[in-house]
Amino acid sequence: MDSLRKTIRSLAGQSYKSYKMLEGVHVFPDFRLSVDHVQGDPFALPSRVSIHLNHDVVGLPRHLWSNPDRRRACEDFLARAVHRLISEFVNGNCGSGRSGEVAIACNGQQVLQRNCVLLTGNSLEARITVGLPADGRSILAGEAERILCDEIPKLVEGALLYENLSASDIEDHVYAIEDQVALRHALDTYDLVSFVADGSRLPRRSGIDDLPLQDNVVPIDAPSSLAVEIELPNQGVVRGLGIRKGVTLIVGGGFHGKSTLLHALQRGVYDHIPGDGRENTVCESSAMKVRAEDGRNVSCLDISAFINNLPMGQDTQSFSSSNASGSTSQAANIIEALQAGSRVLLMDEDTSATNFMIRDQRMQQLVTDDKEPITPFLCRVRELYDDHGISSVIVIGGSGDYLSVADTVIMMDNYRALDVTERAAELAGDRPATGNGGPIAFRSTRRPQSGSISALRGSQLKIDSHDMRELVFGESRVDVGGLEQLVDDGQVLCIGWMLSYYAEKLLPGHDDLASGMDELMHLLLRGGLDTFTPYAHMGNFAVPRRQELIAVLNRMREVQWVC
Ligand code: ADP
Ligand code: MG
Repeated sequence: MDSLRKTIRSLAGQSYKSYKMLEGVHVFPDFRLSVDHVQGDPFALPSRVSIHLNHDVVGLPRHLWSNPDRRRACEDFLARAVHRLISEFVNGNCGSGRSGEVAIACNGQQVLQRNCVLLTGNSLEARITVGLPADGRSILAGEAERILCDEIPKLVEGALLYENLSASDIEDHVYAIEDQVALRHALDTYDLVSFVADGSRLPRRSGIDDLPLQDNVVPIDAPSSLAVEIELPNQGVVRGLGIRKGVTLIVGGGFHGKSTLLHALQRGVYDHIPGDGRENTVCESSAMKVRAEDGRNVSCLDISAFINNLPMGQDTQSFSSSNASGSTSQAANIIEALQAGSRVLLMDEDTSATNFMIRDQRMQQLVTDDKEPITPFLCRVRELYDDHGISSVIVIGGSGDYLSVADTVIMMDNYRALDVTERAAELAGDRPATGNGGPIAFRSTRRPQSGSISALRGSQLKIDSHDMRELVFGESRVDVGGLEQLVDDGQVLCIGWMLSYYAEKLLPGHDDLASGMDELMHLLLRGGLDTFTPYAHMGNFAVPRRQELIAVLNRMREVQWVC
């Protein structure tokens, strides 16, 4: 450490690029600090620094990270501890651009596998970013010394040494994650697609804040007819609302909590931190929230199950549009989700195209079937389950037509879930005819043309993400804002790197999309998140689902598809 101090002092007032001298490993009494990449100037992305500790120094009991889920939980706990202490100990901005900024890529309510903290057989590694400080372009050595030699050791001591952490908090974290994994695994045994434990607190602070709403929350209390009890490894038996396989409607008056329940289900594909309110709310892991997404790009997709006879004779067995409508985009989203292996579809009237969901009898009289290209989802939802085992959970307050196709009807009434299935069955009319749609295209041979995906900008790979809304990929920008189950910018970034890897290394050898994606997910499982980037010690990735990986590829406008 002393030699690091000396080196930093010698850099005082020098030009920014002299910071390159710091690259390499510096030995501290308890850990090694590796400066992996020095930024080009104070305004660029901050420098990458990794911290390495031996396990005897960390002291984390082995049983707490003895399997992949426990390890993910521990890594997440430690990353959050670093995150918390950064806001406590680190002085922060102290010069030009991003001078003094220290960060770790871990926040949010979900516990995702990340690469900012890694527990391996040999050591613990934590990856942070540091904005090396400067005044204009000249090095602020005093500030740099404070960050690297004082602030970082304090972070290590406070956040990465077991003796300074709360043992019971770590246990709670690990056991909560393990229980959620077990709960999700148990769904199939109980014939459920989702489970919301009694006491769950679902509403969020606001539409842009995923933290739990604090005041006047009505917790979930399952009606006895829908209540299920499941035994978990750590908590024992939990009781809650079981949403069964089949077609489930969530009905109720406006503002009674329908969308809030559905939103909790769509997030239930991930594990949540203790205290979130959704830590015993889980959903089948392939479940896909499907919405209308007008304006999106669709390429060579068979949407003829829902859309036929478009004006000008457009082909809907191999439908392409750079500007899909509400209904065609929603049809495309469903077909793509099915082709990506989703077993559960989640839909909300708030984000659906009305003409895709329903067409009532009077409208059928006015606009006859031969003039209407759309076979509404209403006409296919039963077949999806009865013939293919695909369940749907649909929020629908505005159309009684759906009562005739439902297995279960849950009514949200003043934020309480009631079972109104029997009453709904009394009111239900005849089931609708299947309509004019073609067979549902579960399988497809479509795949991207080799060479048509590239993350190169000039001679450099350019992959970046903005706020879970956009992936920057080479020369192009991909709108990913319609993918509501992306919860972390690190997932978007990781998808970018995975697709770049796919394009370069896997695509030439794979005849279909599914096997290429399987291989990609397999590599992720085997080699971890670092597999996909040539840069060492990147710490800002989070694992995406296979569903979103494919969904992003499907939204890339430049890709040429072979059908
Ligand atoms: P709907 O979809 O039925 O119109 P929302 O789910 O959008 O209703 O909920 C309406 C409002 O009620 C939102 O502001 C939401 O945060 C709040 N809310 C939802 N569920 C609860 C609950 N269990 N307790 C308290 N407030 C809730
Ligand atoms: Mg709503």
